[in-house]
Amino acid sequence: MTYPNVQLHIDGKWRDAEAKRTIDVINPATEEVIGTVAHASKADLEEAVAAADRGFRIWRDMPAYERSKLMRKAADLIRERADSIAKILTMEQGKVFAEARIETMTAADVIEWFAEEGRRAYGRLIPARTTGVYQMAIREPVGPVAAFTPWNFPVNQVVKKLAAALAAGCSIIVKAPEETPASPAELIRAFVDAGVPTGVVNLVYGVPAEVSEFLIPHPVIRKMSFTGSTPVGKHLAALAGQHMKRATMELGGHAPAIVFDDADVESAAKIMVAAKYRNAGQVCISPTRFLVQDGVYDQFVERFVAGAKAIKVGDGLDASSTMGALANDRRIASIEGLLQDAKANGGKVATGGNRVGNKGYFFEPTVMTDVPNSARAMNDEPFGPLALISRFGTFDDAVEEANRLPYGLASYAFTRSAKTATAIGANIDAGMMSINNFALALPETPFGGVKDSGYGAEGGIEGLDAYLSTKFISQAGV
Ligand code: NAD
Repeated sequence: MTYPNVQLHIDGKWRDAEAKRTIDVINPATEEVIGTVAHASKADLEEAVAAADRGFRIWRDMPAYERSKLMRKAADLIRERADSIAKILTMEQGKVFAEARIETMTAADVIEWFAEEGRRAYGRLIPARTTGVYQMAIREPVGPVAAFTPWNFPVNQVVKKLAAALAAGCSIIVKAPEETPASPAELIRAFVDAGVPTGVVNLVYGVPAEVSEFLIPHPVIRKMSFTGSTPVGKHLAALAGQHMKRATMELGGHAPAIVFDDADVESAAKIMVAAKYRNAGQVCISPTRFLVQDGVYDQFVERFVAGAKAIKVGDGLDASSTMGALANDRRIASIEGLLQDAKANGGKVATGGNRVGNKGYFFEPTVMTDVPNSARAMNDEPFGPLALISRFGTFDDAVEEANRLPYGLASYAFTRSAKTATAIGANIDAGMMSINNFALALPETPFGGVKDSGYGAEGGIEGLDAYLSTKFISQAGV
């Protein structure tokens, strides 16, 4: 299968950038240029905004029932095309094919769930103080949306915004990742092929800062949603605030995974190894700080290291690989930097710690112990295959360490005690907690952070709310 050259989708047409500029796309497993993506200029963005404005009026006025049918057709097309979409996802992003396929099939589930939920965007009637008066709170789509998504889940990060926006009746301009552009383009193609009207869904790529500086302040755009790093998120949130735009911010994390003495350690290690090295650790909800109570510390480290060693690193298209390449060379440099600094601070490498081979951005599943809080890795999000395991004594010690950082996205805990489970759920500052399992990011459940991890939720009914505004109408008879 050949990798496609990716075009923009503006006003119902697939086309090159107006200035014919392109950006190269690299396969992280081979470091070879495999294709190009169109690079939008201001003129392209102007057109996209005008199209989204027109598309919004059409889509807003289409009954939710009809919108839902089109969305479900898009979901069907994605399922039919899952193998080829997953293959290009692996070629551009590096993750193993099995994960890419799950990501693609999950996208269909997300679309279907929001297609249904859009039909239930109920308002309410509020009893009036006067007979004959009807007080109505009506839910309306917020307007044309600008969505900015990253390269770690090229399909999934787009679909959560796209499906919710469309279900609410909004049009959208997606600025998808330049490094992994073809799989999100296939997602958009499914909507186009399903018959979504012209202008409702638009897709652009370019210089991220140029696109966001243009779209967010634009008067047509009423809402922005961003997934990416905390520093960029803070910058864009400020821009959105300056222009009074609704914003959803899905930013970084540094998830604590707390293993108590009374946990099923075998099961905890198994679940956490799978969660840690999924997508080579390039996941905002990846468990990163493993806090293990004294009594089970040695057992957990031993089981976790054994699990990490059993992972087979290789090209994501090779069926025997269980962890693929990192998505870009910045990830290698970042993980190597964190490792060196952690070692210089006294941290010990229990397994891994090196690049694999001399071609492709492969890195060993790595486990470090005894890394002090003064090391950068214990403070900056290690967005890669690096697990940091520390020990703790008491419940309060674990809570203090878990809440030490400004992040608050995902968190995990393992215990057989209902009392401890309830207490830890109540005490951790995080937008999400998964206890004795790994079950975050389902279409029907809210996903989002607190503190520096952002605000707003994607997924669940909260995910739809983000694209709706409330209009109050008081109506009296004449
Ligand atoms: P980065 O911080 O420059 O970019 C992160 C994302 O933001 C990218 O998708 C990029 O295209 C986008 N971006 C950057 N500047 C932008 C701007 N001015 N306007 C609009 N979009 C902009 O660096 P990176 O190397 O791509 O990623 C590094 C870090 O980002 C990771 O270490 C991780 O912490 C974070 N990240 C988080 C997620 C997530 O799921 N929350 C995903 C990818 C990256």
